[in-house]
Amino acid sequence: RAKEGGRNRCKFYQEEMNARLGQRLSLAAKLRHALERDELLLHYQPQVDLRSGAIVGAEALIRWRHPELGLVPPSQFIPIAEETGLIVPIGEWVLHAACVQAQSWAAMGLPRIRVAVNISARQFRHKGLLESIQQALRLSGIPPGYLEVEITESMIMYGPEETIRLLRNLKDLGLQIALDDFGTGFSSLSYLKRFPIDVLKIDQSFVRGIVSDREDAAIVKTVIGLAHSLELRTIAEGVETAEQAGLLRGWASDEVQGYHFSRPLDADAFIGRLREGRRFVIDG
Ligand code: C2E
Ligand code: MG
Ligand code: MG
Ligand code: MG
Repeated sequence: RAKEGGRNRCKFYQEEMNARLGQRLSLAAKLRHALERDELLLHYQPQVDLRSGAIVGAEALIRWRHPELGLVPPSQFIPIAEETGLIVPIGEWVLHAACVQAQSWAAMGLPRIRVAVNISARQFRHKGLLESIQQALRLSGIPPGYLEVEITESMIMYGPEETIRLLRNLKDLGLQIALDDFGTGFSSLSYLKRFPIDVLKIDQSFVRGIVSDREDAAIVKTVIGLAHSLELRTIAEGVETAEQAGLLRGWASDEVQGYHFSRPLDADAFIGRLREGRRFVIDG
């Protein structure tokens, strides 16, 4: 009996594994058509300057609206896009769409702001990246300094020499380079000195605790100080409350991003927000 139970559990486990694999495969198959069927779109989340309270940038965040599945979050399909290589054409689309959108804001007479684009690991190592960035800049017409590319710590840990070379090529185009989710990887601090980066994005897992947790507060405050000593700009991610914003302002973080200011918005809502021209008031 016991043996049979074990076998059943095993069978059940096997079935579940098959089901999950099946889900991934069918998601991959659907993702293959997402681009041509126009199912991908970008949302934009404001990045706010802590001194002026003005919106100075927007992070482009991809969304997939599938007719049957509904809205699929990037955490579910970006890993599949990475595994299948679909991230290359998808990433190119994101770069192009974000730059064109940013140029359209300026063309509407709105103040020019930066647009930030996430680059995935495989896309970063892909030979065509430089060319597709150049093309996005050229076709959209945005000044290169207004494009910020976000890479993560884990991407630079692997092959630092090659990474430096790749980053130099990007810098030569005149872009800004941000290190996303900073603090969650295990990169050496010496990388901050050697790598041509401009911005540290302090991960939301630290920002979340700064009001209640002394360690998180100490880490965030110290990272801001470190960044400034190295002449890097800081963006604190995942700011959800006025208290958090106040502390970050006191510690002189340059910028903030998070639900307290705004959730990521669709293109029209973001334009509406820019048109308001509102400045956020941050006490602290
Ligand atoms: P990320 O680049 O670190 O983006 C920040 C994520 O935090 C976004 O999730 C954003 O919606 C969310 N967020 C912003 N403010 C808050 C807040 O106050 N509280 C909380 N709890 N969350 C907040 P999203 O849009 O689901 O994206 C998740 C991840 O997917 C991104 O993390 C990024 O790694 C990846 N991703 C998104 N768009 C792209 C893309 O176009 N290309 C690539 N390669 N990856 C992308
Ligand atoms: Mg990001
Ligand atoms: Mg992040
Ligand atoms: Mg994050």
